[in-house]
Amino acid sequence: MIKKYMKLHFYGAVRGVTGSCYLLENNNDKLLIDCGAYQGKDSGQNNQEFLFNPEEIKAVVLTHAHFDHSGRLPLLVKKGFHGKIFTTAPTRDLTALILEDSARILADEAEKNNEKPLFSVDDVEKAISLIETVDYNVPFSPIQDSSVIFLNAGHILGSAMVKITIDNKNLFFSGDVGNCGNPILADPDPIPTDVNYVICESTYGNREHELIEERSAKLKRAVKEIIGRGGTLIIPSFSIERTQELLYEIDNLVDNDLIPDIPVYLDSPLAIKATAVYKKYINFLRFDRDVLNSPDRDFFNFPRLRLTLTVDESKKINSYSAAKIIIAGSGMMTGGRILHHLRRYLPSEKNGLLIIGYQAEGTLGREIFNGAKTVKIFNEEIDVKASIMAIGAFSAHGDRKQLADWLRLIAVKCEKVFLTHGDLDVKNEFKDYLTKNIGGNYLIPHFQEYWDL
Ligand SMILES: [Zn+2]
Repeated sequence: MIKKYMKLHFYGAVRGVTGSCYLLENNNDKLLIDCGAYQGKDSGQNNQEFLFNPEEIKAVVLTHAHFDHSGRLPLLVKKGFHGKIFTTAPTRDLTALILEDSARILADEAEKNNEKPLFSVDDVEKAISLIETVDYNVPFSPIQDSSVIFLNAGHILGSAMVKITIDNKNLFFSGDVGNCGNPILADPDPIPTDVNYVICESTYGNREHELIEERSAKLKRAVKEIIGRGGTLIIPSFSIERTQELLYEIDNLVDNDLIPDIPVYLDSPLAIKATAVYKKYINFLRFDRDVLNSPDRDFFNFPRLRLTLTVDESKKINSYSAAKIIIAGSGMMTGGRILHHLRRYLPSEKNGLLIIGYQAEGTLGREIFNGAKTVKIFNEEIDVKASIMAIGAFSAHGDRKQLADWLRLIAVKCEKVFLTHGDLDVKNEFKDYLTKNIGGNYLIPHFQEYWDL
């Protein structure tokens, strides 16, 4: 008789936050959970060969659309993967947007550097064509003898946690776990109490967030302050989830006459398209106020919202000299249309910059957040005289207290909890925090390590 075995390999989001990729090997079947790209300081690793043979992967389960979970799927296909990719319908649509956008950026960069891009729009199309959509709580079987279900992760639209059952063993992949109290998404589902192994993210394993109620008040204050000076408020925003939450908050302030009536420009093609996906999958959203009974049901829209899709439309924003709000990408101010706005508006005290997302080390956003008096944009020295404000409560991840509450149900009962998707010092602090507060057996896996389950 052939000896049975099950192994879990850690191929990404192990040394840091990005590049999520786990390989579950059950006898001869291989299942990949996420196939994400590295970002920031680790992005050089995207060009490296996979540490497994893509042709041997039977199927992929994708937790959500973010690039650090989906970004290497086109490369996987290019290298010979031809199985199915299972995910939710909103994740399919958002992943297509994100991957097409990055294929275009890669093509531009490759042309500039006279190189071949990592993947092309063609590779993206092939990857998307392999997707089979699955609803939450509906079992499916991506590899032999397996039963898999998606639970709601409450992180971004369509995001899922994954429970995999094979031979009476239950594995649970947290994916990215959302922040409780999100005004447009349901809270993350509770963890099933029969799981044996948990693979849990640790992004904010050493932090507790600002209260979510604070953000509306802070947003209102920032808008009023800048408007009072007749200035422009610039909000760098991540295209998916953050932008929609922001539009929803502004819609609320406008509906209730809490801020003056001024134009709000959404100056990001990706964010405009992503917002359309959010509207399409309204059944996946949950609102914290009664927006669906308002006549237009348009919870991300208000009379003076302007969508500037083309470059010409974007340039015209400058001709409006009175008070206004501009929302643009990229969220960490590393590229995109936000740079043009920063160059124009940072040098005046009249204006303001409102930071609502995490700014990684080494980004322009971090430099400004840390109080730089001048910054370099398009090779020009730009004075930073605009007021710099920040709201910390817009996080899409649960903080350590929420994650501990979520793990509490199974921490002592299950065999092992693997902590991933976090910087090493954060994971160590998180492990201590969890051990002290809820007990349990925690492990911090190393890159390329595998465990027999
Ligand atoms: Zn994510």
